[in-house]
Amino acid sequence: MLSNKKLRMSRQRKAILEALNDLHCHPTADEVYEMVRRKVPHISLGTVYRNLEILTSSGVIRKVQLGGAQMRFDDCRDEHYHIRCLRCDRVDDLPLDPLNLSEEILSAQTGYKIVGHCLEFIGVCPRCQDEEGGDEAA
Ligand SMILES: [Zn+2]
Ligand SMILES: [Zn+2]
Repeated sequence: MLSNKKLRMSRQRKAILEALNDLHCHPTADEVYEMVRRKVPHISLGTVYRNLEILTSSGVIRKVQLGGAQMRFDDCRDEHYHIRCLRCDRVDDLPLDPLNLSEEILSAQTGYKIVGHCLEFIGVCPRCQDEEGGDEAA
């Protein structure tokens, strides 16, 4: 195998990016692994983790830090917000423009050097609502 110091698009890495594209809804590393394994049968979970880290630190993908238990990955690099289902833990993008917060002012007020922000909405996704039955039994 090639071991180049620069970020090369190895077969494994390409398969990981394709999996992220196919999975859409912010997969966990384990979900990416399951998907990649169909194309690259001998890949290890460690390799997938390592490549996800490399892709994240080189800015190709983003890590999504949400209230859910697991770290998720996102192939959309633009600032955007997420909505998470409380029942099945699925995560979708919100069609909402980034808030125009003045990080300078907040920085001055808190003394923090602000590097970004995240905003998470929580709810029940359409599929889980269906499973509950259409009528509100409350
Ligand atoms: Zn759900
Ligand atoms: Zn997203």
